[in-house]
Amino acid sequence: MYDLGIIGGGPAGYTAALHATSNGKKVVLFEQDKVGGTCLNRGCIPTKAILHSAEVFEEMKNAENLGLSAENVSFDYEKVVERKDKIVEKLRKGLELSLKNHKVEIVNANAEISAKNQIKANGEIYECKEILVATGAKPREFKGMKFDGEFVLSSDDVLNLKKLPKSIVVVGSGAIGIEWTRIFAAFGVEVTIVELAENLLPVADIEVSKRIERIFKTKKIKIYKSTGVEKIENKNVYLTNGEILAPEMVLIAIGREICELDNPHNYNCIGDACGEIQLAHFASKQAIEFVEGIKFDKTLVPSVVYGNPEIAWIGKREQDLEEGSFQKSMLLVSALGKSHCDNATEGFIKLLSQNDEIVGVHIVSKEASALIQQMVIAIQNKISISKLKEICYAHPTYSEGIYESLFNL
Ligand SMILES: Cc1cc2nc3c(=O)[nH]c(=O)nc-3n(C[C@H](O)[C@H](O)[C@H](O)COP(=O)(O)OP(=O)(O)OC[C@H]3O[C@@H](n4cnc5c(N)ncnc54)[C@H](O)[C@@H]3O)c2cc1C
Repeated sequence: MYDLGIIGGGPAGYTAALHATSNGKKVVLFEQDKVGGTCLNRGCIPTKAILHSAEVFEEMKNAENLGLSAENVSFDYEKVVERKDKIVEKLRKGLELSLKNHKVEIVNANAEISAKNQIKANGEIYECKEILVATGAKPREFKGMKFDGEFVLSSDDVLNLKKLPKSIVVVGSGAIGIEWTRIFAAFGVEVTIVELAENLLPVADIEVSKRIERIFKTKKIKIYKSTGVEKIENKNVYLTNGEILAPEMVLIAIGREICELDNPHNYNCIGDACGEIQLAHFASKQAIEFVEGIKFDKTLVPSVVYGNPEIAWIGKREQDLEEGSFQKSMLLVSALGKSHCDNATEGFIKLLSQNDEIVGVHIVSKEASALIQQMVIAIQNKISISKLKEICYAHPTYSEGIYESLFNL
């Protein structure tokens, strides 16, 4: 008899397993593929590894701006992918060791709930006092069209390309679509991004969306907004505006479908499979909430889109607030000394406030992923703007941009 049976070994499942065993529970974890789940094997980590190569390549091409010379700058994409694989493997081994040290029993098999307190896997029954489902999500197909791994690619397929295409159409401009557009463009692939909504990255603040569009245009990325894909046929992409595109490949990035368990029993579900917010840190926070009872504010989950420059936000967007009900400060990153030192002057820091409190922060800047965290702390703890002004910020940093912005609210 186990105290806890967990189905799915991604960030939700493995975090729950590690915390539960730390609290003295006997835990069995079922994983049909590799521990680490989407995040480690097919998501956050591998994409950021490839993205890093892309960014460094882009910087190397512009080395002369830094007074450096790098001649015949080129890349070997197979090696880029190999490096990504090594990083993933190394981190997975670390995770496996950590699970072993915590005495989590791992069953490498597909599992199902066979009765209220029973999990069935490999033909065996595991009795569990409590069951937690953390089965994650998988790439959504375009109109039921199967991914073929050659022309119509999912976010899983695109990670294992041996060679980059000359041209690609990216369907969807959520975080995955935006990050891959940036990777492809940095490596010199001709990219077209197609978005059904009125703006790119429609989940973001309107000014963030507009800025991304501007940045993409400077990189010669072709953009279709308010445009859908009618059909994909004979290696052609038919757009709703009547145009037909003929790229070498298509990346479908139109969201992720929940991996639901087919069973009639009520169960606890966390992570991507619960269908709330599909982010790794949300998944692991839910796991900690489930095991440790540490609650968290689900309206204050930071979002980050990686690439050059990074994009990050927390709290309310301008379009969500009633006109005249808020104050706004908009600071261009080029106003910061550090951005000039780093040759990274693109972007802005935007703060939105109401009644002496920050209610939304939207950043397009180098280091946005790190910057956003201080604002999560400020908003969650309702630290007033007057109090924030008492903080001493280091120089030269991007954080100074936040400090300066406080005086413009
Ligand atoms: C390309 C890409 C980039 C991403 N980048 C980021 C990012 O930068 N930051 C971020 O926060 N999030 C990112 N995400 C999202 C992040 O990967 C997910 O939110 C996170 O992995 C969810 O964790 P999870 O544990 O709920 O599910 P998963 O990580 O999907 O894990 C679920 C696991 O359950 C297993 N499983 C499913 N069914 C069964 C079964 N019946 N029996 C046994 N095992 C089963 C699966 O094999 C899988 O390993 C990205 C996703 C993708 C696709």
